[in-house]
Amino acid sequence: MDQAAIDALGNLTVPAQRHIINGQTVAASDGQDMEVLSPLNGQRLTTVAKGTKADMDAAVAAARAAFEDRRWAGQTPAARKNILLKWAELIDTHALELAVLGVRDNGTEISMALKAEPGSAAATIRYYAEAIDKHYGEIAPTQDGFLGLIHKEPVGVVGAIIPWNFPLMIGAWKLAPALAMGNSVVLKPAETASLSLMRLVELAHEAGLPPGVLNAVTGEGPVVGEAMALSMDVDVLVFTGSGGTGRRLLTYAAQSNLKRVYLELGGKSPNIVFADAPDLQEAAKVAAFGIFRNAGQVCVAGSRLLVEAAIHDDFVAEVARVAEAMKVGNPLDLSTEIGAVNSENQLRQNLQFVTTAVEEGGTIATGGGQVLQETGGYFMAPTIITDVAPKATLAQQEVFGPVLAVTPFNDEADAIRLANDSIYGLAGGVWTANLSRAHRMIGAVRTGVIHVNTYGGPDVTVPLGGVGQSGNGHDKSLHALEKYTNLKTAWIKL
Ligand code: ADP
Repeated sequence: MDQAAIDALGNLTVPAQRHIINGQTVAASDGQDMEVLSPLNGQRLTTVAKGTKADMDAAVAAARAAFEDRRWAGQTPAARKNILLKWAELIDTHALELAVLGVRDNGTEISMALKAEPGSAAATIRYYAEAIDKHYGEIAPTQDGFLGLIHKEPVGVVGAIIPWNFPLMIGAWKLAPALAMGNSVVLKPAETASLSLMRLVELAHEAGLPPGVLNAVTGEGPVVGEAMALSMDVDVLVFTGSGGTGRRLLTYAAQSNLKRVYLELGGKSPNIVFADAPDLQEAAKVAAFGIFRNAGQVCVAGSRLLVEAAIHDDFVAEVARVAEAMKVGNPLDLSTEIGAVNSENQLRQNLQFVTTAVEEGGTIATGGGQVLQETGGYFMAPTIITDVAPKATLAQQEVFGPVLAVTPFNDEADAIRLANDSIYGLAGGVWTANLSRAHRMIGAVRTGVIHVNTYGGPDVTVPLGGVGQSGNGHDKSLHALEKYTNLKTAWIKL
C-alpha cells in the first residue's frame, strides 16, 4: 500500500454531495445543505444535501416506478449478475479513493478501512451476484392431482438506513442481497458517513444499474430516515444502528403500512477467557484488537472481558501492554492502529462512560482520556477499566467506543451467568483448549455469533445477527436473501 497515494487523495477537495434519485444528482427540495466535519481535524470537509420529506418521497416513488416496470427484476438473471459483478470490479478499481474518502468522513484507520470497506463491499456484492442464478423456488410434496409451487418474489421497495462505522461494508450487506433478489432500494446513509456510500451508488450506475433501482437520500435521521420509515410505499426496512432508533422504526412501521423491519442493533459482547486458553498471549492480543480497532466503533466489539480469577491480574496486564503499544493517530497514516472517534458528540459520550465507571467503583488500568487534542480531531486512548461490577453501567450499556470493561469469574457456571446477564445478544468469544467446554459454552452463551479461540470473522458466507435487544434477522450468507423475498404459494389442481 502506498502512503504517498493515500496522502494525495487525502488532500483533495471534496465536492458538495447531492442526492441520487432516479439516476440523477439532485439538490434538496428546499435547496439546503448540511456541513460535513472531518473527525480527523474537526474541520469542514464538504457539504451534503440536507434532505426533506419531499426528497425521500421522490426517491421512494422513483424506486416504486422502477420496480413496477420491471426494468431490473425483468432482466435475465445473467444480465443482472453481470451488472453486479461489474459494480464489484469498479469498487476494486476505486478502492483506495473510496477508502480515503470514507476515512476522512468517519475516522476509521485506513489499514482497517481498506479491507473492511471497499474490499468487503466488493466481496459481498460478488457473493450475492453469484447467488442470483442459483436461488430458486420450490415444489411442495402435495397429494396426487395437485401441484403446490412456492415462488420466491422480490418484496418491492427496500429502505435501508446505514450507520457510520462501516458504511460501505454494512451498506453492501443490505444493498447486494436486496438488489440480487430484484428489488428497488432507497438508501439513507448516516449524517457523519455519507460520502463513500454515495460514491458507491454512483459506481452502481456506472456499472449499468438502471436509474431508479438504487436511490440515495442524505440528511438527518429524524427527518429523512423517519420519512422513509413512515412511508406507505416502502415494503421492507433494514437498519443497523442504535437500539433507540430501532425502537422508533418499529413504531413508524406500526403507524404506517406494517412494513417488515429488520434491526441489527448494539451489543455488549462478552469475551470470556479461561485459564486453560491455548495461548494467553494471543488471547490478550486479540482481546485488545477486538475492542480497540476502529476506536471500538464495531457492533460486535468484545467490550466485556470476562477473565478467570486465577489468571486475571496477569492477563489484564498483558492486554494493557498490547493496548498501550497500539498507535492512536492520523487515520490516513498506514501505521495507525486506532483512528478517530466519529464525532465530537460520540467522544464526549465515551468520556462520560469512563467517569461513570469510576464513580461506580471501576479502576482505570490504562487510558481513560482524550488524546491528540492539538490536531483538532476526536481521539481517545484505548481504555481498560477493571473491577467493573456485573450491574455497573459499563457492564450493561454499550459505549461504542474504545473502552473495555473487565470482570473476573470463578468457574464455568459463573462465566455463563455473567455473559448472559445482558439485554443484548450479538456476539461473544470463548478462549479454552478444552473441546467439551468450548461446545458447552457455544450452547450456553445467548448470542447470535460466538467465536472460539479467535474474535471477529469477516467472511460473508456466515450469517450475522443478534438475539434479545441486539435485533432480529441476519445480514450476510444466503439466509439474508429471505429478508428481501416474499414466498408466494401457487396451488394448482391438475
Ligand atoms: P448512532 O447513535 O450510533 O449514530 P443511530 O441509530 O442514531 O446510531 O444512527 C444510525 C442511522 O439511523 C443513521 O443513518 C441515522 O441517520 C439514522 N436515524 C437516526 N434517527 C433516526 C430516526 N428517528 N428515524 C430514522 N432513522 C434515524
